[in-house]
Amino acid sequence: MLPKTEEIIEGVHAHVQPDGGWCLNNSGILTGSSGTVLIDTAATERRSRMLHENVRALSSGPVEFVVNTHSHGDHTFGNYLFAGEATVIAHEMAAAEMAEHGLALQGLWPAVEWGHIEVSRPRITFSDRMSLEGAGMRIQLLHFGPGHTVGDCVVWLPDQRVLFPGDLVFSGATPFVLMGSVSGTLRRLDQLRRLEPLHIVPGHGPVGGPELLDANADYLRWVRGLARAGVADGLAPLELARSADLGVFARLLDSERLVGNLIRAYAEESGAAPAAPLDVQSAFAEMVSFNGGHPHCAA
Ligand SMILES: [Zn+2]
Repeated sequence: MLPKTEEIIEGVHAHVQPDGGWCLNNSGILTGSSGTVLIDTAATERRSRMLHENVRALSSGPVEFVVNTHSHGDHTFGNYLFAGEATVIAHEMAAAEMAEHGLALQGLWPAVEWGHIEVSRPRITFSDRMSLEGAGMRIQLLHFGPGHTVGDCVVWLPDQRVLFPGDLVFSGATPFVLMGSVSGTLRRLDQLRRLEPLHIVPGHGPVGGPELLDANADYLRWVRGLARAGVADGLAPLELARSADLGVFARLLDSERLVGNLIRAYAEESGAAPAAPLDVQSAFAEMVSFNGGHPHCAA
């Protein structure tokens, strides 16, 4: 499905890539008289070029800044198409992960046509928060601690009350905390609720409001409870996932993420620090096994 651009409030747009499954992330496009600010790019060359076209259709002014909400390639691989004119900004730990992982995501999805991709790393990083004046708007970049990854950045527009939380929030798709933290993401969702956003452009899936924060928290609390029971029963995460009744969460896309989320929840139950490194390759292999084959990625 082709991406679509939605105007949320004057000058604030969501570039949404249906259906929001694996590697089909959303971007934010802020337009104003001084230029444009882009929040996240896309995974493949083809999808990054479609984003570039949509940005150009909204504004002929220069792209001043590209803000990456975290390191994952679906949100960052298209940076290079904008890096000639724009300054790329991310959390310092996201920048470190981009340097460490490079194009490794392509190895997880060998069937995807990636096209030409270059890793274009941030030129400006921050640790806790940063204020930005771009597209004629007050823009706040906030890092609250480990959540979806160790280096998440949420983009908050205090005057418009629009929140771009990156992959701390999924909409219609299963949350994914294998590289981050169950408990950390639950705390982050509480912190995001305190901002009192009116509109939320999630990392993946349809735009919504604060109810998205509750939906993600409900899922993660369920995962935490399931993991506690699984640890008590001596079940391995994959075994537990196979025997679990997904209930209302069965309708979310990419339900195989449950296995990765349980692996993270088990690590936390045994005292691992939030976002402590885990073997992502082997966790992904278990997700493939749960799914009965490689999951579909429409990037
Ligand atoms: Zn992500």
